[in-house]
Amino acid sequence: MSSRKEHAQEHARRREQLSPPPSLRLFNTLTRQVEEIVPIETGHVRMYSCGPTVYRFIHIGNLRTFTMADWIRRALVAQGLRITHIKNITDVGHMRQELLDRGEDKMVAQARQEGKSPYEIAAFYTEAFHDDETRLNILPADVFPRATEHIPEMIAMTGRLLERGYAYEADGNVFFSVKAFPGYGQLSGNLLENLGQGEHVANENDPLKRAPEDFPLWKVAEPGRLMAWDSPWGRGFPGWHIECSAMSAKYLGPQFDLHTGGVDNIFPHHEDERAQSEGASGEQFVRYWVHGQHLLADGLKMAKSTGNAYTLADVKARGFEPLALRYFFTTALYRSRINFTFRALRASQTALRRLRAHAWRLSDLTLSLPYDEKERLGERAAFDHPYYRAFLTAVDADLNMPRAMAVIWQMLRDESVTPALRLAILYAADDILGFGFATDVAAYAAQSPDERRADGAPEAVVTLARERAALRTQQDWSAADALRARIAQAGYDAVSYTHLRAHETGRN
Ligand code: AMP
Ligand code: ZN
Repeated sequence: MSSRKEHAQEHARRREQLSPPPSLRLFNTLTRQVEEIVPIETGHVRMYSCGPTVYRFIHIGNLRTFTMADWIRRALVAQGLRITHIKNITDVGHMRQELLDRGEDKMVAQARQEGKSPYEIAAFYTEAFHDDETRLNILPADVFPRATEHIPEMIAMTGRLLERGYAYEADGNVFFSVKAFPGYGQLSGNLLENLGQGEHVANENDPLKRAPEDFPLWKVAEPGRLMAWDSPWGRGFPGWHIECSAMSAKYLGPQFDLHTGGVDNIFPHHEDERAQSEGASGEQFVRYWVHGQHLLADGLKMAKSTGNAYTLADVKARGFEPLALRYFFTTALYRSRINFTFRALRASQTALRRLRAHAWRLSDLTLSLPYDEKERLGERAAFDHPYYRAFLTAVDADLNMPRAMAVIWQMLRDESVTPALRLAILYAADDILGFGFATDVAAYAAQSPDERRADGAPEAVVTLARERAALRTQQDWSAADALRARIAQAGYDAVSYTHLRAHETGRN
């Protein structure tokens, strides 16, 4: 554990020495420009990610958005920045269009269906969500605040909005008055005059609202509702958007650096969050708004309600590793939609296995080197290496993961770079990629020779390849080439140990 930490520190230190020091640039939805992420507080990035609604299992579309936030966070850590990351758990149902008709929210409806209390439902799916994130190597947020544990903060912010003239009360409900906030629409581009449809207007038939675009901060509880709280306006429950405004202010302050979510969050959720937070504090709320495009299935946004959602359990049931999904997410830019298919996932699973096989073989070849040489050739040099820099350049350019992965593949196949150095570059890159190759290699090293043989190349081939690596470090090229030919005769590639195709073996 501590060595990982030292590794990260070394990582950051090395990066600082590079000139110019690389830094992450991301597309800011607010300014519609790719911008360098410069934290408000030097050296410390405060980041908020909209988390899951926990009345059902999250789907792999949600995981795409959470993985995007994870890459952003890891890229910032690799830059030597400290991160405070908050991800909320929406465990109180909020009225949404499809349930308004039935006068019931999702949490309550699910509880009724499963014969459990809304709190039991939320606890169960929160646990499942953490489990999914862990399996995808998504680093846990520093705090996962639950909406139901922050009702007083939401009530306080609602009160402040009333005091400051941004909200009004009507029969136990409190609504945000959109016209009172002149900056409304800047984030989403949905300016007031165009607001003719959508979630806000779905409440249009609510005769208590003064204007159709207004949205609820506090709602009166219907009779028999379990999740309800006392407030200055009577018994009720909070609107959805106030949850993120109140909880982000509590853990990150009224003004912070980065806010992430999927593009569906831009409107109304983030537009409304921004209006509430800036209305309450009078300061700019968030500097950089970053939104991930959707994962699609059959050409439509993956969503439980569309009936095209897959969970991580579905993926595992078909024999895939969760991390194959993480690989799959690298195959597109986060600002592009991707269509999910199991065929594409299979290709990602194969690619991930190959990457791991490379890591194993490189570690085999490196084992034969004396320790100080490993040091000299490996860890230190990795951070300054052109391949690593090319990788970072791709990541820093608005998270270009397809290009970053292409650099990694090219590097792994480049025999002019020593195995120790290639492995070290892979590990350094993996601090951001998050596949856990170092753990894989440790597990591989702990296997017996027989188990390893079952994994791939015969021990004899491994031994020859090690000898060849040693010869190459001694610059005995002709002897090394002779061994390469012997390895090829046995049917293996001397670098990756993968099986060669017939025409490559030199046996005709
Ligand atoms: P929800 O639980 O629906 O509030 O979603 C949690 C997060 O996942 C939000 O940031 C959404 O924007 C995001 N999300 C929802 N559906 C998808 C999808 N199909 N692809 C990518 N992200 C999604
Ligand atoms: Zn949110």
